[in-house]
Amino acid sequence: MSLDILAIAAHPDDVEQTCGGTLIKMAEKGYRTGVLDLTAGDMGTRGTPEQRIEESLAAAKIMLVGHRDNLHFPDARLENTISARMTLAVKIRETRPRVVILPYWEGRHPDHYRAAELGYEACFLAGLKKLDEYSEPHRPYKILYSSIYANVTPSFVVDISAQFERRMAALLSYRSQYGGGEGGELFPDEKEIRERLGAVARFYGNLVGVKYGEPFVVKETMLVEDVVAMGGRSI
Ligand SMILES: [Zn+2]
Repeated sequence: MSLDILAIAAHPDDVEQTCGGTLIKMAEKGYRTGVLDLTAGDMGTRGTPEQRIEESLAAAKIMLVGHRDNLHFPDARLENTISARMTLAVKIRETRPRVVILPYWEGRHPDHYRAAELGYEACFLAGLKKLDEYSEPHRPYKILYSSIYANVTPSFVVDISAQFERRMAALLSYRSQYGGGEGGELFPDEKEIRERLGAVARFYGNLVGVKYGEPFVVKETMLVEDVVAMGGRSI
């Protein structure tokens, strides 16, 4: 397997809220996309890990994601251990992504910033020839940090105006998280979720003059080949 882009996230439904529009857009361009969730949400108030996984696979279909996997690391107590790094590094060697999306390295939930650190270090390890004798070394070329919930200036924003509704539909397939109880409405929280996600996506879209956007940060300086083709109006 060789993916063009792999999003690594702490919990099922993180990707749907942070970089799902970008994944959909890249799949529409013909790129092979994948998602690797580190935990199955076993500490979540609502739903079981089995439900969350099932819902995440339904969401993957909606996001046109060809490959989605879950490492079943412990939820809410994710740790950057050598065994976690090695497990993740082997997955990176198996899926061979050119681009990896990680959560931003600071945040409220410890799992999110641990996932960022764990992901970065696993990407590094994955490139070491002698890491293990069963898999070929592979180091991703590009690491993008999804910064939608970090109050930082993005390095760039992806226009997801045409993908926003599909991303919303993917998020709502997590019925255990956003669905109603027995006999109630299917998605009582839908209006609130739609407003919140819409406002955030509009904010980032507005920074680049489009309707909806998803922000990313890269640690290295961006390399540009063609300054005439650059998007984002200056004045
Ligand atoms: Zn999360």
